[in-house]
Amino acid sequence: MYGYVYVYEYGAWFGLRHAMSCLDATRRPQTIAALEAETFDIAIIGGGITGAGVAREASLRGLRVALLEAEDFAAGTSSRSSKLIHGGLRYLAMGDVALVRETALERKVLHRMAPHLVQRRWMVLPVRSRAGLLKFRTAITTYEKLGAVESEDLHRNWDAGDLAREEPALDREAFPYACAYREYLTDDARLVIANLRAAAAAGAICLSYAPVTAIGADGGAAARAVEARCVFSGQELRVRARCVVNAAGPWVEAVRRLAEPQAPSMLHLSKGVHIALPTERLPVRNLVLLAAPDGRSLFAIPRGEVTYIGTTDTSYDGGARVWPEIAGDDVRYLLEPLPRYFPGAALGESDVVARWAGLRPLVAHPGKAAQDLSRKDEITVGAGGVVTVAGGKLTGYRPMAVRILESAAPLLGRPLPPRPRHEPPLPGGDIAGDGGRTSLPSDAAERLLGLYGSDAAAIIDGDGGTPVAATLLRRGEIDWAVRREGAMRAEDVLQRRTRIALYQPRWHDALVEPVVERMAQLLDWSAGRCDEEVRRAR
Ligand code: FAD
Repeated sequence: MYGYVYVYEYGAWFGLRHAMSCLDATRRPQTIAALEAETFDIAIIGGGITGAGVAREASLRGLRVALLEAEDFAAGTSSRSSKLIHGGLRYLAMGDVALVRETALERKVLHRMAPHLVQRRWMVLPVRSRAGLLKFRTAITTYEKLGAVESEDLHRNWDAGDLAREEPALDREAFPYACAYREYLTDDARLVIANLRAAAAAGAICLSYAPVTAIGADGGAAARAVEARCVFSGQELRVRARCVVNAAGPWVEAVRRLAEPQAPSMLHLSKGVHIALPTERLPVRNLVLLAAPDGRSLFAIPRGEVTYIGTTDTSYDGGARVWPEIAGDDVRYLLEPLPRYFPGAALGESDVVARWAGLRPLVAHPGKAAQDLSRKDEITVGAGGVVTVAGGKLTGYRPMAVRILESAAPLLGRPLPPRPRHEPPLPGGDIAGDGGRTSLPSDAAERLLGLYGSDAAAIIDGDGGTPVAATLLRRGEIDWAVRREGAMRAEDVLQRRTRIALYQPRWHDALVEPVVERMAQLLDWSAGRCDEEVRRAR
């Protein structure tokens, strides 16, 4: 069985241009030197989707941009989401019409810019009766109007016959009808990386594993100086910029207080947990909506070799952290609806093969529970000249980036350059049309195309297509992650570049050592560092 990875000639060329970028982890000393060598227009703190989106938007407008990230790029909330590019029907019920319109419209734009990373899917809402379908019709029609949904993508109602074909594992006796409407599935961490690569191609300089430790005034031409420290060498670095954007997600309060120690609290952190189960035990085909016992909606989403279920939404007072703990109650809450929808599945806690938790950096409103808080973003220009952004969603990152730049404009000392007339595709997104093609087994081809789009052929060029440890991972992916996508640790490759840890978790442990071995060659690691990397990845 062979499928094809189609590659646009231009795509391969576009990939090559990135060879010299700051996202080449083998050139870290040069990247650090470049960060210290000039005065930037904007220094961005945080390499999640918010920071990456601002970096791309600003660089495409011709601004000089530096970005500093404390951990790996996308290591925070932006790799822990439900991975949906959606308007969020639920927010319509909360009255957030402007937010829903903006994000619903963004779906088509992002799909156009990166069809490999933003894929069209049916979201299926199972219901018990025809009356249930009618009840839903007004909301879904409004949603489709707000999102200017094309006629071929308008919702459709399925009966038991359709369900037998489209979602056979669902209990059709309990749920003989369903409404299927369009949503889009993304890969959050890879969307961040794609935006950073676009920013880097337009001249931005981005550095991971460089936590910002101080923000102060600068004596020279620049208004601000941002101090950071390289996690690996301990080297201190100082980045000068006319304006600082604080895009630190759950950490925005801590970063803001580096410039304004008395700044008030603004965040309400909410924890969201996902669990993954083997697809063969829970063979869901579309994105399926499930009702939790408290009436909240959960998603069941098939991806790679798993179906993941999410998410919880509970206030979190443990402070911002990279790996919020996952409690047994979180897992049980997510498992609870499964027997009602998929009676044949018989799943328990021991079937969970992967899990992840993230913190939503929501804007606080005293007296409101996490699930009732708006997902709107709020941008504040602080007394210290730092632009801080809280709230927001992955889906709305582009319009949010525009608003952030407009807020930052008075600090730039010159008019904000206009947006480019045409929105270029994200790297890997130019996959339409004809071009060169490479044959690979179809499951491997599909996986590579979904992760890398038109860059897939360049990745498997030469011996890059060789499987690592007899798994779906290809040798070229490790090199690509290090040289083009800034991966500094084995964990970066397994968790956030190749997504093996999430979508093919059964291969994870077998891949840790081969990945460390190859990274050691590329990054000149000592034996001690290799041991540390194996330990951390496991
Ligand atoms: P982050 O991704 O957390 O980025 C902030 C970065 O700042 C981090 O990487 C951190 O390491 C860095 N940082 C912190 N301190 C410093 C410092 N001192 N120096 C340098 N860097 C620093 N949205 C959707 O649109 N669709 C969804 O399906 C969806 N599902 C979600 C499900 C869950 C469970 C959660 C939690 C959120 C979900 N969201 C979703 C929301 C979305 O994920 C977030 O709005 C978004 O990822 C926030 O991105 P961010 O860049 O602001 O924050």
